[in-house]
Amino acid sequence: MWEKKLEWILGLVVLIVAALLANGDFLPAGGSAKTVSKRTVVIDPGHGGIDPGKIGVNDAKEKEINLQIALRLKECLEKEDVAVVMTRETDDGLYSAGAKNKKREDMERRCAIIREAEPDVAVSIHQNSYHQGGESGCQVFYYQESKEGEQLAVSIQEEMAAQLKPARKREAKPNDSYYMLRHTAAPAVIVECGFLSNWNEAQKLCTEEYQRQVAQAVADGILHYFSK
Ligand SMILES: [Zn+2]
Repeated sequence: MWEKKLEWILGLVVLIVAALLANGDFLPAGGSAKTVSKRTVVIDPGHGGIDPGKIGVNDAKEKEINLQIALRLKECLEKEDVAVVMTRETDDGLYSAGAKNKKREDMERRCAIIREAEPDVAVSIHQNSYHQGGESGCQVFYYQESKEGEQLAVSIQEEMAAQLKPARKREAKPNDSYYMLRHTAAPAVIVECGFLSNWNEAQKLCTEEYQRQVAQAVADGILHYFSK
């Protein structure tokens, strides 16, 4: 009789211990029970709606190229298990129809989305332009007071140089006036992918193939920054 009871109690103890272990409560600190939290990136395709951004020598609108590259960048990052928050996924700007200062409201809403997402980094996608058609190449800007922003910018600039092999190599550059860089707590960069004032570059930036290459280079720059 006693033996049967003891067997029953032992069985119960084994079950309870197994349940607790499965729960992870008894694993030592730093054990494998705690999953590494996912990285989050906010991708901000510049301009949109009534604001086309720069107009290319080939009539391409910056806002459309920005969105295409941003959506491809989202794909690249999600493939690597990075969580992505977009400030826009359509042509619409982020201002309300009745806003007095649409540009200002648009910028404030973008910054609010970044604040709420509390991302590891924020990346704004833009295209450059110059009054002379000869200028070309990609360039990444960071807030001059942000050491992490600088590391992120350098990492992306290096990957873009290595993968896109631009004729004119540029350096990541500090900036203290861009609204988004000044109003974002997370390390943030503005990626100017190329010059719409340069015929060859403007044409290339409109192709799906080059947009994919640009997106992959920016993604690899971000992932490289995360790995450090
Ligand atoms: Zn722009």
